Amino acid sequence: MGEVINGKEESQKYKDKIVRFVSERKKKGLNIPCVASITVGDDGGSLYYVNNQKKVSESLGLKFKSIFLDESITGEELISTIEELNKDCTVHGIMLQLPLPNHIDAKLVTSKINANKDIDSLTDINTGKFYKGEKAFIPCTPRSIINLIKSLNIDICGKNAVVIGRSNIVGKPTAQLLLNENATVTICHSRTQNLKDICKKADIIVSAIGRPGFITSEFVSEKSVVIDVGTTVVDGKLRGDVVFDDVIKKAAYVTPVPGGVGAMTTTMLILNVCEALK
Ligand code: NAP
Repeated sequence: MGEVINGKEESQKYKDKIVRFVSERKKKGLNIPCVASITVGDDGGSLYYVNNQKKVSESLGLKFKSIFLDESITGEELISTIEELNKDCTVHGIMLQLPLPNHIDAKLVTSKINANKDIDSLTDINTGKFYKGEKAFIPCTPRSIINLIKSLNIDICGKNAVVIGRSNIVGKPTAQLLLNENATVTICHSRTQNLKDICKKADIIVSAIGRPGFITSEFVSEKSVVIDVGTTVVDGKLRGDVVFDDVIKKAAYVTPVPGGVGAMTTTMLILNVCEALK
């Protein structure tokens, strides 16, 4: 029987550090970190996410500015909002909730965020620096994944890691972070052949595909560390890619959904704001 990787507990360790950082700044009379979040339209998912970010940020002592813009706003108007926030020295991190409405060029708009305030790592400047190994904001979900793996105190160096999924926001940056830790990384996707066999040989499996119940105990071995990134709502419940009850009987470590990777991501975002201020 494997062990559960508890994202909530791990997240709390970072939250404690953030609270200490903010309270020390307050004591010294220094400015405290401030996030500005821009939401266009009233997509239910984004609103839930923003409200949660606000609640967590404020509970840790940060300032949080929510900007809600009408769905009919033009790309130019959105860019001018971003440029105002770029100039505002009381704002240290800018979050643009995606996706944007279809009439707005998301690539153009995200490129306008000041790279020093790009806490969600959306700009090409940050992405380029990240893949070149230069100092850059690390995308929040991949940062949560690597920190959960590191929390196990296993030596990642030289291990075989399989990342299933090759999206720009999860799969690719996660593979890069594992590579930075000197893992031997295989990236799989929908055209990969013999996925089960590839996974079975891996020490670390990160599943980021969004197919509930896809990863069963047939994909893992006794040594596997299994990180479930998938989040799909099925019959009103959040489900991961991994059949948790089945996989935990065989693998060494598994993250639950909810309570695994997702429990860390907002905290990683706030950590990025604190680093932006530093
Ligand atoms: P995405 O852009 O849809 O990418 C999914 C990836 O999975 C693609 O690369 C796709 O391959 C691959 N894939 C799909 N079906 C597959 C299969 N049967 N076998 C192997 N690979 C397959 O999704 P994403 O944005 O990366 O997100 C992935 C999941 O993570 C979603 O459930 C999302 O909700 C979740 N997520 C969670 C968090 C969190 O904080 N917990 C954050 C972000 C995302 P192709 O490239 O060949 O199409």
